[in-house]
Amino acid sequence: MKTELWVKNGYVFTGEGFRFASIKIKNGIIEALYDSELEPPKENESHSIDASGYLVVPGFIDAHVHFNDPGRTDWEGIETGSRAAAIGGTTTIFDMPLNCSPSVTNVEILHHKRDFLKSKSYIDYALWGGMTGNNVHNNAELAHMSEGVIAWKAFMSESGIDDFPFVSPEQLELAMKIAREQNKILALHAEWLEEINSLTTFYKNQKDMNERNAFLASRPISAEERAVNFALELAAKYGTAIHFVHISSPKVVGQIHRAKKSGVNVTVETCPHYLLFDEEDFLRKGAILKCAPPLRPRKEVEGLWECIANGWIDTIGSDHSPCLYTMKDTDSIWDTWGGIQGVQFTWLALLDEALKRKIPLKKILPLGTENVANRFRLSRNKGRIQPGLDADFVLISLDEETKVDKQSIAFRNSYSPYENRTFLLKIKKTILRGKVIYDNQTGVTEEKYGQYTQPREDAYGSIPH
Ligand SMILES: [Zn+2]
Repeated sequence: MKTELWVKNGYVFTGEGFRFASIKIKNGIIEALYDSELEPPKENESHSIDASGYLVVPGFIDAHVHFNDPGRTDWEGIETGSRAAAIGGTTTIFDMPLNCSPSVTNVEILHHKRDFLKSKSYIDYALWGGMTGNNVHNNAELAHMSEGVIAWKAFMSESGIDDFPFVSPEQLELAMKIAREQNKILALHAEWLEEINSLTTFYKNQKDMNERNAFLASRPISAEERAVNFALELAAKYGTAIHFVHISSPKVVGQIHRAKKSGVNVTVETCPHYLLFDEEDFLRKGAILKCAPPLRPRKEVEGLWECIANGWIDTIGSDHSPCLYTMKDTDSIWDTWGGIQGVQFTWLALLDEALKRKIPLKKILPLGTENVANRFRLSRNKGRIQPGLDADFVLISLDEETKVDKQSIAFRNSYSPYENRTFLLKIKKTILRGKVIYDNQTGVTEEKYGQYTQPREDAYGSIPH
């Protein structure tokens, strides 16, 4: 039977830990897991993949990418972005509502984007919707949109994109009410606008100060704390489910953790760059590592790893935020486009670092798989290797290494802060719904199997946290 596939004798991550197992797949769905001693029947031999010696983990779900399609495809694009993601072991992405053009802020744009991306992605994809200063008063439009979006995204400070204005404190309150009524998650870029704006004006005028130091000083941790605190109070008041993206400091993670313990429906994401680079790297390398919030001192990086070990961070997203190289190659760091290109290397880098730090993989794998699926209501289909779910896997070798050079970068603009790094593991195969979409010997398949993915309202009665 052609629709049947076996992934044999791998060291399979089941959520609780690893076990040697063979996985039977039928029509793209996991049918069963067997202890490896039970050899699959011989007639299926031609449709089996030998995973012996490899880790088999769920396909990664990257809830935070900017693929910029349609509209800014010279920066990235769904084809190049999803191809790079597939090579990096990611089988599902959630594309952000900004940096494509127009931004996804009404139902017409949402439907156009959804249809436009059809048959262009190598991996499954869901779409974020934008709540902005322009549409937050339009309840009817947002109600219409909510059916098609994985969740909402809003900025509490300037986004850098003209048609994606931030929400003011009053507008955030409205956004919280709307998201609650819709029973949708509201994700926030949390930096306190007034604080960073006044500091930016101040530090831009410190002409005797190194520009890179000045940029770091213009976006302090206190601006994150203040924004997070404000949003947590509103979420508690309205009972809204919120999700903080790209939190850079353990202090802020702690603040969120305390709120969660007191009953606020909140989750927190950090990004690989806050776990792998620090402000010294930014001071040395500059533009390629410019992001907002900026990279932090080494003690913050160490603290974030402690938060992971403690289970205080829920998800890790790449925040793959690409642009043309010329937009990084500017005279002043203030004019440089902020954003880090890393979707292809996120999990190579994170697993490599976790292994070096002796953090058990079962502590970090859920942050890119099960936790994301649970939070965003995809858990009926994604996030775990168990019968009934999509057969999305990554086969990983811990006996081989991956060296990142320019030629190996698959996203549109071939530069990345991960260039010249060597990771002590290798992604051998990426499997999406039972199809091998990437094999490290033969590359990415020509066929684009990626499908539009929507949250399943029946995944949970209420949003889990
Ligand atoms: Zn982002």
